[in-house]
Amino acid sequence: MNSPEQNLEQPIIDVPTGEDYKDIREAVRRLCGGFPPEYWREKDEAEAYPTEFIEAMTQAGFLAALIPQEYGGTGLPLRAAAVILEEVCNAGCHAAAGHAQMYTMGTLLRHGSEAQKRKYLPQIAAGTLRLQAFGVTEPSTGSDTTHLKTRAIKREGGYTLKGQKIFTSRAQHSDLMLVLARTTPIEEVKAKSHGISTFLIDIRESLGKGLEIRPIKTMVNHHACEVFFDDVQIPADALVGEEGRGFRYILDGMNSERVLTAAEAIGSTRWFVRTATKYANERRVFDRPIGQNQSIQFPIAQAHIQMEAADLMVRRAAAMFQAGVPCGAEANMARYLAAEALWNAAEACMQTHGGIGFAREMNVERKWREARLARIAPVSTNLILAHVAQHVLGLPRSY
Ligand SMILES: Cc1cc2nc3c(=O)[nH]c(=O)nc-3n(C[C@H](O)[C@H](O)[C@H](O)COP(=O)(O)OP(=O)(O)OC[C@H]3O[C@@H](n4cnc5c(N)ncnc54)[C@H](O)[C@@H]3O)c2cc1C
Repeated sequence: MNSPEQNLEQPIIDVPTGEDYKDIREAVRRLCGGFPPEYWREKDEAEAYPTEFIEAMTQAGFLAALIPQEYGGTGLPLRAAAVILEEVCNAGCHAAAGHAQMYTMGTLLRHGSEAQKRKYLPQIAAGTLRLQAFGVTEPSTGSDTTHLKTRAIKREGGYTLKGQKIFTSRAQHSDLMLVLARTTPIEEVKAKSHGISTFLIDIRESLGKGLEIRPIKTMVNHHACEVFFDDVQIPADALVGEEGRGFRYILDGMNSERVLTAAEAIGSTRWFVRTATKYANERRVFDRPIGQNQSIQFPIAQAHIQMEAADLMVRRAAAMFQAGVPCGAEANMARYLAAEALWNAAEACMQTHGGIGFAREMNVERKWREARLARIAPVSTNLILAHVAQHVLGLPRSY
């Protein structure tokens, strides 16, 4: 357990403040300038994947930020990847279309075999292969991941995959998918987190051979899908790391996922605060700017304060991650603070705009819909509170 006393024993780690990775920030802003709000509105209305944006991000090397140079990536620290996603969202673009390539990477880098890395990473870095899908959630298993029902049954030369995933984002737009499946039934393991394995499957090879992907219509353009595995035959070398240890691998990767998605939330919060402030200064009602009213300016100021605090926690978690010290508490707290700051900023921005906020051309309603997701996926803020209560404060496990 992580306690305040133990925190005192942690090494001193420098946390950067100010505009770090200035060159990267400027390059991302330049790239995003080519994808104006109309682009995102059209994609949103057509529920279409932003292929051109993802290609541009790939060609610029941004989506290969975490792939080591020896495999064709840029091998940057986690903080640099976080800055990239933050700037994408700050520019009003939608980072979720490509972020999974960054946050699934840790599992492959830390636990994948050399052969898997040589086979996939250079192609992912070059943009000829997409690793954008991560299948964990199932219809009857959400936050309680260890109860997942999808089975991978060992057979001669590989495994047979049976089961179903739900809300697997971008499965239709990805070549590879990281999948969590049970290799040993829950009744036969000592701890329920044992007996779960991670597989890197090639969607192209299995599609139509037991693998079926069906899009789900949702309130955001997130390309969430149902994925059905009907006796899908996968080769033995699709297994990542050791059989039965997959849940541990996914937990290992969660800290980076929390930091990266928190940075996205910070970027979108900046967008909302800036957009709300501009409108509050410009819009005149009762012969004065609406921003002169405390009921308009205070929520925007509060969101700004929360965003700055969340940003510090994101930077701290990223610095600890890079230093290789345990950062589960910080990564979760960063994610929580950023999700809350984002939702408060989205609400403040919507309220500031009044009726016009509902007009699609203002882009507020689209960003507002997207902002709501941060309190639910990839992890619900309730589960973060439960983590902090139990693992940081030592309160009884609540579930
Ligand atoms: C647009 C979208 C994209 C997604 N993309 C992916 C993806 O790519 N891959 C993937 O695997 N999943 C994905 N998800 C699923 C997402 O990770 C889950 O929705 C999320 O983890 C919550 O699980 P659940 O929806 O099953 O909620 P449930 O686990 O059913 O929980 C419902 C509510 O109850 C609360 N709750 C449950 N148990 C407790 C408890 N013990 N204490 C307090 N509160 C509790 C939860 O916090 C939540 O608010 C996506 C979801 C959406 C909406």
